[in-house]
Order: sequence, then C-alpha cells, then structure tokens
Amino acid sequence: MGEKVIPLADHRYAASVPRIPERPAAPSGHVADRLGRPLRDLRISVTDRCNFRCGYCMPKEVFDKQYHFLPHGSLLSFEEITRAARLFVAHGVRKLRLTGGEPLLRKDLERLVAMLAALRCPDGSALDLTLTTNGSLLARKARALKDAGLQRVTVSLDALDDTIFRRMNDVDFPVADVLEGIAEARRCGFGTIKVNMVVKRGSNDHEIVPMARFFREQFDGSVVLRFIEYMDVGATNGWRMDEVLPSADVVARIAQSFPLEPLEANAPGETAQRWRYRDGGGEIGVISSVTRAFCRDCNRARLSTEGKLFTCLFASHGHDLRALLRGGHDDAQIAAAIGALWAGRGDRYSELRGAMQADAGSGQRRVEMHYIGG
Ligand code: SAM
Ligand code: SF4
Ligand code: SF4
Repeated sequence: MGEKVIPLADHRYAASVPRIPERPAAPSGHVADRLGRPLRDLRISVTDRCNFRCGYCMPKEVFDKQYHFLPHGSLLSFEEITRAARLFVAHGVRKLRLTGGEPLLRKDLERLVAMLAALRCPDGSALDLTLTTNGSLLARKARALKDAGLQRVTVSLDALDDTIFRRMNDVDFPVADVLEGIAEARRCGFGTIKVNMVVKRGSNDHEIVPMARFFREQFDGSVVLRFIEYMDVGATNGWRMDEVLPSADVVARIAQSFPLEPLEANAPGETAQRWRYRDGGGEIGVISSVTRAFCRDCNRARLSTEGKLFTCLFASHGHDLRALLRGGHDDAQIAAAIGALWAGRGDRYSELRGAMQADAGSGQRRVEMHYIGG
C-alpha cells in the first residue's frame, strides 16, 4: 500500500487578498486578460460537500469521515455571492453556473437562484443561469429551482449500467434515481438538458455507446450527451494518462454505430466540440481538455465556496474576495480589484500541460475540483 495522500485543509489553499487600485475606475463592461480573453463565465461553488465519492474527484480514501469540510461560517452567504456576481456582470460576465461539491446539498439553494435570476445585464437582459448537479436530489428539487428562475441544468452521469454507476459514485447510489431526476427536470420545463459523462478508460468506457444509444432514443433528442476527458485536476485522484480515453476515440466508437458529422461551435469559448448524428438523432459533445486544450478561448472564472477567486481550474493560488466582501469595501473598490485581477491573468495550464510536471516548481498543492467547482 502506498502512503495515504492527505490534502491540505481547504483554508490553506494559497490565496492572497487582492489589491484595490488607488483610484478605482468604474467597470467598462469589458475586461480582457493578458491573452486578450474576455471575462464571460463565472462558476460559483456553493458547497465543498458531496453525497457521492466519484474516484476522479473525491476519492473515498481521502474524503473520509476525518476530512474537514469547510465550517458554515466560512462559506459565502447568498447575499455575498449575489453581490460578487453583480460585480462580475459589470465586467462582462453573462453566464453564471452554480456548482460544487453537490450544489443541491446547499440549504435553500432556490433562494440563491431567485436572487441571481433577478440580476440583469447592462442592456436589461437576463443572465444565462445554470447549474451542474450529480442528479441525486434533482427529482425532489427541480420544480423549486425552475420556479425560482433557474434556466438550465447539466446532470453528471457516468454510466447507465447500475453496477458500474454505483461503482463510479462509490456510495452505491442507483442510476434509476438520477434518470428520474432528468425526467422530472424535463417535466418541469427545463429545455435542453446536458448530461456529462467523465470517461475513464477501463472503468466506464464500455458505457459510451449504450449512453449514446439511450439518450438518442429517450427524451426526443432534448438531452445532449457530452463526454469529458478524465482530467488531472487536484492532487488526490491518482490521475494517469493511460486512463484518459481521447475524445477522438469516443467519437470513433460512437460513429461505428451511429455516423456523426461535426457541427460549428455555438459560441466563442465553448468548451465542447459538437457532433451531430447524420440520421437527425440529435447531437453530442466532447470536452477534450487533455488532448485538445481550449485555453485560447477560456473566459471562465471560478469562485470557491469560501469566496476565493481562481482564474484557472488548475490553479494552486486563489484571490481572497471574501476578505474584500467582508472588509468594508464599497462596490467600486471590489469591482476595480476584480478587473485588475483579470487584466493580469495569463493562465493556460492545459496548453502547457505536456511541457511541465503537474506540480513542478511551485511546491503548492493544486486546488481540488469539489472545492473550486467544475
Ligand atoms: N457534483 C456536481 C456534479 O458532479 O455534477 C457538480 C460538481 S462536479 C465537480 C462538476 C463536474 O466536474 C462534473 O460533471 C464532474 O463529472 C466533473 N469532474 C470532476 N472531476 C473530474 C475529473 N477529474 N476530470 C473530468 N471531469 C471531472
Ligand atoms: Fe461529487 Fe460531483 Fe465530485 Fe462526483 S464529480 S464527487 S458528484 S462533486
Ligand atoms: Fe481555462 Fe485553465 Fe482550463 Fe486552460 S486550463 S481552459 S485556462 S481553466
């Protein structure tokens, strides 16, 4: 047996308090980073807890009964999250995604959804407000979320086969309950629902074609299945390149049964490459952050459960916005600090991955996915 990897307690992820510019300028509605990338998408982690223990994200051996999750007082309140989101919108954010951990574990989440749904873009239009969930509580919560103003949901689902699914979530959770959550979300009027499958070679790759077949035939093509390459996020999942199944192989395997043709991206910065079934049976997407980096268009920022801002999924260093939110600063000062942070951003980890060792040099532990939000 190897030595047990113990992640640093979350509050010890390196973070510094952002500098407030001396003469804060009002946000112009557009801020570009050092590579010219705008800020469009904010992912907000509302809890670091989860009721699943997917091995690629929160392996059971590490996230066990001894693990210290964040105490309630260190979480951003709904008011703090909404205030921060409003300041990001002033810089050009148009899409908010609630994530975690498992976001549906956060008490009264629909109240936060209602607060965020009330935010407006400078032209008065609504934001794109969406949520990523493991689906386990969706059947119970979909109606309240929809009524509160949530526009879209993405459900993670790694297998249809119940035995494999239970093994992937590692808490013996049945697949039928997640499928019921998807069906209930459909009934509640969520339009197109995205289903994310993380593909781990040797664990669930033989579920690729059954998943494609199932979602072609069910739900009238209104569910878009997306295959995600297993990524080297965090420091606890024991990631190995030989467990990554390249997206090109995913597409090839599906195309053998159901011929595919490529589609144009919906929007700049879209992470998925889209493919359409030639027979009109809908579309799929592949997210190839390992084999085909998309840093060039990356317009995403991530706000951790305790209010640290990360400008890259693979960062080991965050920016403590909570200190500003709780520090008596006014909106103009905090907005200016956010703008300055983004303007200084040069992250492109996936592009550089091949050229460097995962933790080389910094000596700092990379942030975990359940904490930063997917
Ligand atoms: N608990 C929710 C869920 O699973 O949908 C939201 C949080 S989860 C961290 C967000 C997304 O990240 C999920 O779709 C999950 O499959 C994905 N994810 C987590 N660890 C990953 C990894 N190592 N590689 C690729 N995707 C990963
Ligand atoms: Fe939980 Fe989502 Fe991570 Fe799985 S991927 S352990 S469901 S946070
Ligand atoms: Fe964006 Fe970082 Fe992912 Fe590149 S590695 S796409 S910069 S989050």
